[in-house]
Amino acid sequence: MHSKIEPWFQSAKLTFDSEIQGNQIVDHRMVLGMRAGYESETENLLHEMSHFIEIDDSRCASPGWGLSVNMAYFPGHPPCTDPRSFQAPAREIRVSAIQRVLSQHFNIEFDDFTWAKLIYDWVPGSCYVLAEFEGLPEWGDKTFSYDEHVKLRCDKIKEAIVAQSHTWTIEQVRDEWDRKCQLLEQRTL
Ligand SMILES: [Zn+2]
Repeated sequence: MHSKIEPWFQSAKLTFDSEIQGNQIVDHRMVLGMRAGYESETENLLHEMSHFIEIDDSRCASPGWGLSVNMAYFPGHPPCTDPRSFQAPAREIRVSAIQRVLSQHFNIEFDDFTWAKLIYDWVPGSCYVLAEFEGLPEWGDKTFSYDEHVKLRCDKIKEAIVAQSHTWTIEQVRDEWDRKCQLLEQRTL
């Protein structure tokens, strides 16, 4: 474990685990997972720490942060996510902004475009990027190749992450972390 991160885990009700993905309650403790797919990295832990900081108080003690994804079922097609709004990507942008501040503080690499692309590719609702951001060409605009269209959209997400990260200081991030830890102490997990 990164030596600068360990002091953040003072609460008896909060820990981390390299084999867990996302966040879970295990033995009455909130466990932040470091695992994402086949990898187990500090970056993933910072992402879950950022979710904990971003999530509303009522859900900070819930597995999966109490978030659910709508699924769509079409005959003959595997189940897939059903995007209904920009809500999910908007949350991931807020989370990534916090993660960017944490990463800078811990001297851990945070690539703005990589995280923007992750959000664009994986979070249902990012199909609304055109409606959410100004100055983007329509998909039908043949001036741009498919890859260029994707890059322009990811750039908008990237700019949002960077801009929001500037609204936080590391002290504010830490204060919100400590406040959430206190909330956990009061809850029965
Ligand atoms: Zn996330």
